[in-house]
Amino acid sequence: MKEIVFATHNEHKLAEVRGIVGAGIKILGLSDIDCHNDMPETGATFEENALQKAKYVKEKYGYDCFAEDSGLEVDSLNQKPGVHTARYAGPNATSDDNMDKLLSSLKGVSNRSARFRTVIALIENGNHHFFDGKIEGTIPESRMGEGGFGYDPVFVPQGYSSSFAQLGVDIKNKISHRAIATQKFIDFLNR
Ligand code: IMP
Repeated sequence: MKEIVFATHNEHKLAEVRGIVGAGIKILGLSDIDCHNDMPETGATFEENALQKAKYVKEKYGYDCFAEDSGLEVDSLNQKPGVHTARYAGPNATSDDNMDKLLSSLKGVSNRSARFRTVIALIENGNHHFFDGKIEGTIPESRMGEGGFGYDPVFVPQGYSSSFAQLGVDIKNKISHRAIATQKFIDFLNR
């Protein structure tokens, strides 16, 4: 079976990608290769950050691998928080802090359109490949549900009236930004 390392410490991302990929490809996490270091993430774009994480693992550990960088773009906040989504409320912000900041930034704002974006960077045989995915949606006035991770309670995908947190991982894994990018990635690996 094909094996590839996913350069993330985020157990939720790992579980989602494993769920989307299914049984055909074995996805190893960083703990499987004994990597416990923080990944560098200083780029100005999702592409740069994803490649930076993948390169870090390739250079330090020697594995072909992939990494992803994702974030939320809110139209009435000039596409912020973007690449700063994880640290929107500060360097050690929790998801609760980030969601609180987002909801207060949008208090009284009528245009609530937003999208999640993901870019996957793959390093394979010395070559770099990129796969992207996005999903449009809106930010509700307050949190909806408690499942999922990150900003899931404050993102309602277009065509639904429930948040990612309420929809659950089975539906999310069919429609999300990560699902779209991961499907392109799987198609490439199986080419
Ligand atoms: P990254 O780990 O640097 O890619 O940070 C991405 C940020 O976006 C983190 O704050 C995540 O919680 C958030 N994020 C990315 N994907 C999702 C998602 O599918 N649902 C909710 N939040 C997400």
